[in-house]
Amino acid sequence: MDVLFTPWRYPYLTSPKSENAEGCIFCKAAQSKRTRDTLTLYCSNQALVMLNHT
Ligand SMILES: [Zn+2]
Repeated sequence: MDVLFTPWRYPYLTSPKSENAEGCIFCKAAQSKRTRDTLTLYCSNQALVMLNHT
């Protein structure tokens, strides 16, 4: 197996992760009731189905 090293990504990989209080787009979609705005087709405790775009 070849080990791929991407030195140009190292600062990103080692930088502190910013904690967004609102969460990512998936967290927001899961919490939102506005399914049309978030393009959410289906949401349950185990799955979230979203469109890429309109
Ligand atoms: Zn999230």
